[in-house]
Amino acid sequence: MATLRDVARLAGVSTMTVSRVVNNPGDVKSDTRARVESAIAQLGFVPNAVGRLLAQKRNRAPVSLSRSISGEWSHDERDRSNVDDELVLQATSGRRNLVVQGSSSLSGDTARTMLRIVRAAQPISRVDLARRLEVNRSTVTEIVKPLIASGVLCEAASEQRTAGRLGRPPIGLSLRGDRSLFIGVNIGVRRTHVGAATNGGQLLNEESFDTPADSNATLTRVHSIVERLRDSMPERSLVCIGVSVPGPTDAGRKQLLFAPHLGWRDVPVAEALAIEDKQRTTKSNTRVPVIVENDATAAAIYEARTHLRDSTNRGRNDFVLVRAGTGIGVGLVLGGEVYRGTGTDSGLLGEFGHMTIVAGGKTCACGNRGCWEVYASAASAASLYENERTSRSGETPPRFIEIVARAEAGELQAQATLKRIGEYLGIGISNVIVGLGVSRVVVSGRVVHGWKFLQRSLREAVAGTMAGRLSNWSVEQGEPTGAGLGGALEVAIEHYLKGLVGSTRAAA
Ligand SMILES: [Zn+2]
Repeated sequence: MATLRDVARLAGVSTMTVSRVVNNPGDVKSDTRARVESAIAQLGFVPNAVGRLLAQKRNRAPVSLSRSISGEWSHDERDRSNVDDELVLQATSGRRNLVVQGSSSLSGDTARTMLRIVRAAQPISRVDLARRLEVNRSTVTEIVKPLIASGVLCEAASEQRTAGRLGRPPIGLSLRGDRSLFIGVNIGVRRTHVGAATNGGQLLNEESFDTPADSNATLTRVHSIVERLRDSMPERSLVCIGVSVPGPTDAGRKQLLFAPHLGWRDVPVAEALAIEDKQRTTKSNTRVPVIVENDATAAAIYEARTHLRDSTNRGRNDFVLVRAGTGIGVGLVLGGEVYRGTGTDSGLLGEFGHMTIVAGGKTCACGNRGCWEVYASAASAASLYENERTSRSGETPPRFIEIVARAEAGELQAQATLKRIGEYLGIGISNVIVGLGVSRVVVSGRVVHGWKFLQRSLREAVAGTMAGRLSNWSVEQGEPTGAGLGGALEVAIEHYLKGLVGSTRAAA
């Protein structure tokens, strides 16, 4: 992404002047201002808005000091473009010795939640935002102000006027449609999808192919599709690539550690998808960031963002997402943020699909026996179904949606299979509920196609366990397939939104 320095170079002014145009445009001569604004538009520059907000407030309220550096750094030639805004602002506010980088986590979190709500519910009034965030309107105004000034948000009178209503029409905030481009890659056990979208999540183009057995072949193909998608939209600038993978990742979200159903181990996904950031105007070309996420966690992010369309949602939900397709993965959302575990093992959370529910049971692709996903995934339905009727040799086992279609047509064996899947799902879900202490569960993935036939036995299975008797639990139906590519795109867009509000929070 373009930096303050890039804008200054293109406009032929100092970084200080650019900073003034962004913060106090009235202080800058109109022709200079026009030149800077044109450079900002041309480069698609987005300043660190909340960092600036806090810089403005710095003299009034103490904020957490996470790092301090010398004021002399403003003449340093090292590449530290991310702190440019703040260095310059620090200088303008007259305190040269200390720079506060990042923001207090409270403001950062609120701003991030606010951006997510605006994105999901746009256009949305300040009153509605304040209500949903449970803060004062003045707090919303404070957070919104720099985001509007920097062109992240825009505000316009709503066209829908209530008939007969007096006074001004309500003003709605929206995420400004910019020229940014996000790419999501969902590497599935059977099929891989690659899609390009706007910052609002609107899909612009999509390609898919059967996932090859070899990880290198898969990633080479993905890489060429990513390049093709990017080159087909030269007017847009590729900001981030999000990749969802069917297995745990490393803590840095660069590698896929293990995909049991594909037999892949230690795959350097981010490195294989490295792509030069062509649009970057500085001499030092950098790479577009690639974030690799477990598919259940990516689906959980997608689900959390979908829930924000509900006007009563405050964006701070706690829930567990159970994604059951070829395997089973679990994503955990706490206070609206995904939780991945801690330390060097973060990225491992969610491998509940491989918890043993039948001692000495069926063999699993992971090498263990009796894993939950061998009994409750959509893929496991085929062998269950084959066992429940006289097997006919030479026939390929039916796919999950075919079993659902047969159940719909009234076939009893198919209905019995789905009922059994529901029961096994319920057994595992009750373990997840007591294990994580979160009682709201959303089920997503292909298994949702059979919801009508499996939900009852699922609920009965949960109700019969300790979790069912003790906690106020709920199990809802989520997306059958959309959370795959959608989840990968959300991972990329989430990375971008976090950059805008510059939170220093280490979690998530
Ligand atoms: Zn297993």
